[in-house]
Amino acid sequence: MPDICPKCGLPKELCVCDVLNRETNRRIRVYTEKKKFKKYMTVVSGLTGEEMEKTAKELKVALACGGTSKNGIIELQGDHKESVKKALLEMGYPEDSIDA
Ligand SMILES: [Zn+2]
Repeated sequence: MPDICPKCGLPKELCVCDVLNRETNRRIRVYTEKKKFKKYMTVVSGLTGEEMEKTAKELKVALACGGTSKNGIIELQGDHKESVKKALLEMGYPEDSIDA
């Protein structure tokens, strides 16, 4: 028996109600940093734990880039600020929670 969300009726793995519900006042920051050898990193901060891991994985797929996530910071290789914001919106994060 699959785990179905009582709110939207989707399987739990597809449901974004938790994401939408959780802390609407949370801020997600998206910014770029110039690293050594003039390489850019796009940093996403404000997410933690499993949510951060899942979001990092989805961003890497969406942007087809490499990256790491730890200590509440997702780092993606390259300058992807606009694409990251778009991808976060598509994942269901509210626009007014994203500082980009
Ligand atoms: Zn749901």
